[in-house]
Amino acid sequence: DTTPPANFLRQIVKADVESGKHDKIVTRFPPEPNGYLHIGHAKSICLNFGLAQEFGGECNLRFDDTNPAKEEQEYIDAIKADVEWLGFQWAGEIHYASDYFDQLHAWAIELIKAGKAYVDDLSPEQAREYRGTLTEPGKNSPFRDRSVEENLDLFARMTAGEFPDGARALRAKIDMAAPNMNLRDPILYRIRHAHHHQTGDKWCVYPSYDFTHGQSDAIEGVTHSICTLEFEDHRPLYEWFINNLPVPATPRQYEFARLNLNYTVTSKRKLKQLVDEGHVDGWDDPRMSTLSAFRRRGYTAASIRNFCERIGVTRSDGVVDMGVLEFSIREDLDANAPRAMCVLRPLKVTITNYPEGQTEQLELPRHPKEDIGVRVLPFSRELYIDRDDFMIDPPKGYKRLEPGGEVRLRGSYVIRADEAITDADGNIFELKCSYDPDTLGKNPEGRKVKGVIHWVPADESVECEVRLYDRLFRAPNPDKGEEGGTFLDNINPESLVVLKGCRAEPSLAQATAEDRFQFEREGYFCIDSKDSRPEAPVFNRTVTLRDSWGG
Ligand code: ATP
Ligand code: MG
Ligand code: MG
Repeated sequence: DTTPPANFLRQIVKADVESGKHDKIVTRFPPEPNGYLHIGHAKSICLNFGLAQEFGGECNLRFDDTNPAKEEQEYIDAIKADVEWLGFQWAGEIHYASDYFDQLHAWAIELIKAGKAYVDDLSPEQAREYRGTLTEPGKNSPFRDRSVEENLDLFARMTAGEFPDGARALRAKIDMAAPNMNLRDPILYRIRHAHHHQTGDKWCVYPSYDFTHGQSDAIEGVTHSICTLEFEDHRPLYEWFINNLPVPATPRQYEFARLNLNYTVTSKRKLKQLVDEGHVDGWDDPRMSTLSAFRRRGYTAASIRNFCERIGVTRSDGVVDMGVLEFSIREDLDANAPRAMCVLRPLKVTITNYPEGQTEQLELPRHPKEDIGVRVLPFSRELYIDRDDFMIDPPKGYKRLEPGGEVRLRGSYVIRADEAITDADGNIFELKCSYDPDTLGKNPEGRKVKGVIHWVPADESVECEVRLYDRLFRAPNPDKGEEGGTFLDNINPESLVVLKGCRAEPSLAQATAEDRFQFEREGYFCIDSKDSRPEAPVFNRTVTLRDSWGG
């Protein structure tokens, strides 16, 4: 498919650039540091950084850190690492909304002086009652008509720490009957006696998201402030602040549809719950929808960028199939990942007619199409094949090994199964085979051998652990649990299968973190960046060779 995907924001920015409306476009990516970035954030990152790149502008990274209680340095560090890993660089220094706390506080005082803000003593519950509903207008607070002097005094005392959390709030005086609830005297400042990771104990009043966001955009000279559709109703408020304050620039807000992906969750609250309750092994558990999890799982940054380009940018909500993301990584790895062999469930094979003590060094291409060299595989009397590649009594059309039957060992000889050795319980633990010495690199005389299976040498292969990851949820919409259930009830119990005692071909002993491979006939794998050791490698399955979910 070569038609460029729809991206209505690209058209808007393009028109603004062509009309000369801005000298330079400036966008920003504004994460709240209260969790790790997930695949939904990747859409916003690719959009904001991508537009800046495409149109010669700049994109800022700004931490939206107005809520001290839920934010942590660990998240800030992880977010920076993830943005860089995705392949983007923010303009200049990192920004923090908290850098603007002094300015925002000064602007709040200006609003008070202009009679456009007041200190309200209603409790949060009372304020909610006064706010009305979508169908009922709100009521004015009894504190709404305080004098400017009294408001200035109370706000100064709020700021000095005289009152407990929630006792008072500073609100804009707009319209308690506005059909748009966001304009019903929104909160500008709350009292929170909390330590902040950037500003320490300097403040005990913190600005609201709405009072912070647009003004931060203006301070940074952001031209296009791109956010998700939930903020559409906040746009009039965004504009009210920009119009009622002496801000240095006039940013505009645009909304797009957030990414929803099936078979996963992309809410930081739910992701945190999965971590905190031990359903997964941390934020970067390869089954999570976080960018650090996709990285650990073996996804490339390019595959995620391609995915974001492929799904386009629109204003209509929809759900993207996980298969589209999996397609993007398969496409990348099929083209770029070296091939290797790894036997996941080893069954020993002895080639009885191969001379004892003899070894041949076979050379196999590392890639079927790309010229990226060869790998060497020693072939000798003892080797391993996968248990699933031998059946005593196979169904019709079985193309692998059966008693008396032949297969080709990938890149090597044709062998015939002569005898299966079983233990007392009837379990096969070894195959005695014979090889046809005249079949290296050529077809056998007078007969056709259809099957090709993978194998590794017995002695020189590397023992390893293989983790077969699958989708974390078994339902397309995990949130629609059984009656009364939650998303946790939809966790796929087979989302992780750990295989120990697997055998990888010798060339894999050199693999290091984030090296990626196609294990022939098994799927795409990478070295686990956390648990793998040179003497005991651990491989993660990134994705199967084919879509087995029928998506
Ligand atoms: P969550 O609901 O997971 O907490 P959030 O929107 O509160 O997400 P932020 O840290 O505020 O998370 O997000 C930073 C930016 O990423 C915002 O501009 C937001 O609109 C965008 N973003 C978040 N989730 C998605 C998504 N699923 N698709 C597209 N953009 C998203
Ligand atoms: Mg947010
Ligand atoms: Mg949030």
